[in-house]
Amino acid sequence: MILILKQDAKTEAIDKLSNQLQEMGFIVQEIKGEHTHMLGLAGDTSHIDRDQFGRIDIVDSIMKVSEPYKLVGRKFHPEDTVIEIGGQKIGGGNFAVMAGPCSVESEEQLLSIARDVKASGANFIRGGAFKPRTSPYAFQGLGLDGLELLKMARQKTGLPIISELMNNDYLEEFERDVDIIQIGARNMQNFSLLREVGQLKKPVLLKRGLANTIEELLMAAEYLMAGGARDVMLCERGIRTFETATRNTLDLSAVPVLHQKTHLPVIVDPSHGTGYWHLVEPMALAAVAAGADGLIIEVHNAPECALCDGPQSLTPEVFHQLMKKIGKIREVIA
Ligand code: PEP
Ligand code: MN
Repeated sequence: MILILKQDAKTEAIDKLSNQLQEMGFIVQEIKGEHTHMLGLAGDTSHIDRDQFGRIDIVDSIMKVSEPYKLVGRKFHPEDTVIEIGGQKIGGGNFAVMAGPCSVESEEQLLSIARDVKASGANFIRGGAFKPRTSPYAFQGLGLDGLELLKMARQKTGLPIISELMNNDYLEEFERDVDIIQIGARNMQNFSLLREVGQLKKPVLLKRGLANTIEELLMAAEYLMAGGARDVMLCERGIRTFETATRNTLDLSAVPVLHQKTHLPVIVDPSHGTGYWHLVEPMALAAVAAGADGLIIEVHNAPECALCDGPQSLTPEVFHQLMKKIGKIREVIA
């Protein structure tokens, strides 16, 4: 909601109103143009009676903004957000690749993959320490030991790390040890987790839920930003459809749609988006052509033995070739 203020509204009265609105739980952003002065309200305005605000004497008129998200929307923040992590930039024309195994399995496995993906030009190492598996009997990840191995991989390669946080139990460890906190597809609408993670004010990669709309993804990002996060990246990782030829249906149109609606960087995950390693390259290249700000790709040194997501994991050699092609597509679209 936007309150358009009267031309002669006094600063003291505006500050008083702004404080009252903040006490009511809104995030208030003042917008001052040459001829207009407005207060933008972020928060749930659905219960607000417009006429009530109309009675405030410094308010000239009220506009309901159609989108329910304010902090993630382009309306109040037209320029692209550029996120900088450990010397790597993402967004606003800066492109980054996050690569590594689905799960951290051992020191030997992770370090070997980390060295290979770095040599191929990856900017971040990905690796799950806590894994959200469909079956309770499947490998659940190494937990905190996995985080230690990721830290070791960061130290050896200099690449920042990204890993999934599944619940509120390890907020402290993730805040301290991880460069980008990944919120997985299954947790996209875990609102209490989003609020807590937002408060850490750390970079977050928010994955689109298995059956969530783009607007729901944006609202989930709004939770993170309302909590305090600023460096939020959105990730298209495929959605559930009737199609069974692929693990998920990668919705690449989400990339330009999101760019239109939000200033946040958009990352594409062609690994979970397709489920098969031979589909990763074409969809990764298509994502780059569609304007993605980055890719997150699963790479394994022995995909046939991987404890998680082997069928969709690239070997380091295939990843290396893909990175060269990504560079070429980026040159063409630049
Ligand atoms: C992952 O990145 O390994 C993962 C589990 O992703 P998603 O949440 O998209 O399924
Ligand atoms: Mn995976």
